[in-house]
Amino acid sequence: MAFNKKCCHCNYAFSYKTLLNQTAIMKCPACKAELQATLLSKIIFSLIFIIPFVLILMGIERDLGKIVVTLIWVIISFLVIQPLVLKYE
Ligand SMILES: [Zn+2]
Repeated sequence: MAFNKKCCHCNYAFSYKTLLNQTAIMKCPACKAELQATLLSKIIFSLIFIIPFVLILMGIERDLGKIVVTLIWVIISFLVIQPLVLKYE
């Protein structure tokens, strides 16, 4: 996977591991500048996160299956989708 996100202050290219530990605000490891996730990227992430969540909760009847699928989705969202979707400025 390509995580070619760069610091807008010093052009430092963030690694996947760096992005993984960030949420709405991240600190550049190179120049220590604080970067805010853009509002649009936060909205996109929320939609990607919530819509399947609602579909899962509505669609699966058995409770155990629902919990397992929901947990898997939460993990995928934060490990894969969040670092991909959030953009910093
Ligand atoms: Zn920087």
